[in-house]
Amino acid sequence: AAKRKGKNTFHYFTPKMQQQALNRMIMISDLRHALANHQYQLYFQPILDLNTLSIYKAEALLRWQHPLHGMIAPDQFIPLLEETRMINEVANWVFQQSLDAVKQLHKEFTPKFQLSVNVSPVQFRMLTSKQWPQDMSNLGLPVESAAIEITESMLMEERISGHVSEFRNQGFQVALDDFGVGYSSLSYLRKFPIDYLKIDKSFVSSLDENNDDLALCEAIVTMAHKLKIKVVAEGVETEAQLKLLHKIGCDFAQGFLIAKPLPLSTFKNNLNVINNTLKDLLI
Ligand code: C2E
Ligand code: MG
Ligand code: MG
Ligand code: MG
Repeated sequence: AAKRKGKNTFHYFTPKMQQQALNRMIMISDLRHALANHQYQLYFQPILDLNTLSIYKAEALLRWQHPLHGMIAPDQFIPLLEETRMINEVANWVFQQSLDAVKQLHKEFTPKFQLSVNVSPVQFRMLTSKQWPQDMSNLGLPVESAAIEITESMLMEERISGHVSEFRNQGFQVALDDFGVGYSSLSYLRKFPIDYLKIDKSFVSSLDENNDDLALCEAIVTMAHKLKIKVVAEGVETEAQLKLLHKIGCDFAQGFLIAKPLPLSTFKNNLNVINNTLKDLLI
């Protein structure tokens, strides 16, 4: 088909596309060794309770420390892990690391510390991770100390939403991530029981200048509370945003203002400092 368009459009691949395809293949082959070579790292970003101004939750975020290219963000390699079905073993690693971290946080801070872990749709389609509640009880951890973060698109697929329900029935809390940028949010909220709704950072980022976004956030909070769902605002970067979120009754805040995602040791070392700084911000 490409040939018919004439001489100048003969190539299916432009040099740029060829380079991209090559990079992709190289990246996939590098990913095959990443786990065995200990190149993954799990970072933790604190989530602030806006009512008590304390931190007893965090989100686990995956990083890939590539030997040549340095730190690679998850958006760049998770799709490749999904395509190649490597996501499952990585997800299990993420979960085990999270349990290890939560155990330390329980011991060193508070036994109510909860970590939330992002899960991918492919993972649920493949139906492993059934093992997770068992892993937790083996470690003596209550199942409430882990939450899973899913996206709206996952609730659209019956088979996946069924598995998510099973997780929730086993005691995991479920957070709906990136809320507001997916499809048909509202009908899924009615059908599907969730515990947290995370307002996407695109709504939060313009909160101080834009009244429409404030109205939207306020409406989301009101609606969620009527449905007994707690609200987490993602991507909080300024004091003004934090104050507005506090004012409209948002339950939790997460973002660079509070802290960037951090390696566990830094996270633990800074937790008390972060806590004290924030108290000053909101009084
Ligand atoms: P997410 O779950 O929505 O995570 C929030 C993202 O926002 C993180 O990006 C975080 O670093 C970033 N962020 C936090 N606060 C701020 C802020 O104040 N401003 C801005 N601009 N960004 C902020 P990150 O770590 O690059 O992760 C991107 C996405 O990759 C995550 O989005 C999540 O969907 C996915 N992901 C991360 N770790 C995992 C994992 O272990 N498994 C799976 N399946 N997906 C993961
Ligand atoms: Mg998330
Ligand atoms: Mg998000
Ligand atoms: Mg996301």
